[in-house]
Amino acid sequence: MATVEQAQTTTDSGAPTVDVFCPADGRLVGSVPDMGAPEVEQIAAQLRAAQPAWEAIGPEGRARHMLAWLDWIFDNEDRILELVQQESGKSYGDTKIEILATAEVINYYAKHAGEFLADQHPRPHELASSTKSLHLFRKPYQLVGEIFPWNYPLAMPMLDVPPALMAGAAVLSKPSEFTPLAWTECVRGWNEIAAPPVLGLANGAGAAGAAVIDVVDMIMFTGSTRTGRKIAVRAAERLIPAALELGGKDAMIVLDDADMERAVNGATWGGLFNAGQTCIAVERVYVEEPIYDEFVAKLTEKVSGLRTGMDAPGTYQSDLGSLATEAQLEIVERHVQDAKDRGARVLTGGKPTGQGLIYEPTVLVDVDHTMQCMTEETFGPTIPVMKVANEAEAIRLANDSPYGLNGSVYTGDNDRGIRVARQMETGGVSVNNAMMTLFQFPLPFGGWKESGIGGRFGGPAGLLKYCRQQSVTTERIKLASEIHWYPYTKRRGRVAAHLTRILGARGWRRRLGLKRKGSPE
Ligand code: NAD
Repeated sequence: MATVEQAQTTTDSGAPTVDVFCPADGRLVGSVPDMGAPEVEQIAAQLRAAQPAWEAIGPEGRARHMLAWLDWIFDNEDRILELVQQESGKSYGDTKIEILATAEVINYYAKHAGEFLADQHPRPHELASSTKSLHLFRKPYQLVGEIFPWNYPLAMPMLDVPPALMAGAAVLSKPSEFTPLAWTECVRGWNEIAAPPVLGLANGAGAAGAAVIDVVDMIMFTGSTRTGRKIAVRAAERLIPAALELGGKDAMIVLDDADMERAVNGATWGGLFNAGQTCIAVERVYVEEPIYDEFVAKLTEKVSGLRTGMDAPGTYQSDLGSLATEAQLEIVERHVQDAKDRGARVLTGGKPTGQGLIYEPTVLVDVDHTMQCMTEETFGPTIPVMKVANEAEAIRLANDSPYGLNGSVYTGDNDRGIRVARQMETGGVSVNNAMMTLFQFPLPFGGWKESGIGGRFGGPAGLLKYCRQQSVTTERIKLASEIHWYPYTKRRGRVAAHLTRILGARGWRRRLGLKRKGSPE
């Protein structure tokens, strides 16, 4: 099989390109330019020139373009999904969900941006300010940079680009060099519908991403914690805001009163969807002792019945597909080997299928926190399951991680689920579900600890983070001067002091200045 790692080559004209290979069979499926800083700077300048008109048409005008783009995406769905499959090696079922996410995000922010961006006029907080009117305005950053990983070639950009565009910013997008094809096609679609030229594309490897950070006013990054740190450092040097959505090691807790079928099905899909290459995948499972044996038996049976492969579009003949890169396959193999070396047992799976970069769906037991599979992000089709004595031990182990992205709890009692959820150190928890918080758009989505800074998505905050806030005050009563302005006089000083006490102190004696220590009355 040809290597499926992305390779940098040049065109006949000498311009550098990145070749893209299908990880399920090693075929070369396309190539894109490998841009350097000068090209990125040129695109940024064009985007900045187009942004003021985009901001000026307001949320309703922008929503019309966004919805026309969504029409175009649906009209070209088959071709876009074929590109997603070819560059990622996914099963068709896993691929199809990317369109669902696309439609939901565009519709949500197209519908709500006007309400989220509306000017606000809060009431003054106390009597002395009652002569003022308060105004809160939002102004988008002119140019936002957005850098994406390879795990969802369409859905990752679609979580970030629609809210930034709807905020009124221009967006310079940078897809992963491993999976740039579907997104490149979508940006072409934006231009084909003749939308204003405010969506730019910087293709290429890490250097193109670094060039993006150097030309934008705000950066949204989704990817590994390792790269996220570099981005945070560069953003700090430039003093621009950075929102970082990084890695995870999400825990699933199964309590003794859980619905067994649902918990098993949730672990199977939550752990293996997209071959486990989801930041909020179930990466480790803690099961209370009384139900552990039954859970493991049912999970092993379910997982061993799954089908692997990159099936033909529309056939749904496979459940999970390929890992996206050779580096990813190496991590999965290393974690499974390390677990076995330390005494874990593989109940099903545990090796590559031999077809492309596809790895067998795997259940590991007798695992503990000395093993990489329980402490490092695997990002692969493995479900390590650990027996715990009780709820408290499950929570302690779930929190024993540098990551804090999401998690899940299965229980027959929602109150118990919420009680456990509130003790988990993660940005989100799904009770009796897998990865569900991400798809509830009114809720914010973001990681704690090393899983991120600044929040990625969801609700008003998911759009307003692309804006600066401007506070403006106006005067309701026209006075020649304010009591705290020059010149200072004894009389005005006394009046100001009395007012401060009357409005700010507690109890009538303090308010009237009758209760003081050691100062002359
Ligand atoms: P990665 O960090 O290797 O790359 C992500 C992007 O950053 C790519 O586009 C890459 O070209 C670019 N990049 C690399 N070096 C750069 C630099 N110095 N400056 C600017 N850009 C640079 O991540 P990946 O391997 O593509 O994706 C997998 C990781 O993404 C996993 O850790 C996963 O958990 C994480 N992820 C997180 C979320 C989330 O929402 N928290 C979602 C999806 C994936």
